Amino acid sequence: MSSPPLSPWCSQSSGGAVVLRPPEFDCARVVQTREEMLILLNRGAASLLVDLAACSRVCACCGVPALVRVFRRARALGTAFHVIAPRNAQARRALDDAQRVSREPFPLVSTSEA
Ligand SMILES: [Zn+2]
Repeated sequence: MSSPPLSPWCSQSSGGAVVLRPPEFDCARVVQTREEMLILLNRGAASLLVDLAACSRVCACCGVPALVRVFRRARALGTAFHVIAPRNAQARRALDDAQRVSREPFPLVSTSEA
């Protein structure tokens, strides 16, 4: 089975830990990014970390549901999944809103550095 190439904002360590640093998580890009995360999980990624420190936008309409869906898949597979966002990140507001209303909040890690 050949693996599709990873997108430029995705990296996987030799141990199988995947780090994703999407520049945007919006309507234009979210499907591709979500599918990539699901493929990596299905392929047996050891863990999945979504780093939104440099993300300019997380769309509440599609980006947040995509994160929730990936989190559910990761949980079903027993794979560690975390979202990292600095408190002052532009992406942060949609995430905070989602955490407040979601019945299944995904693990959101705060970092204080810019
Ligand atoms: Zn959207």
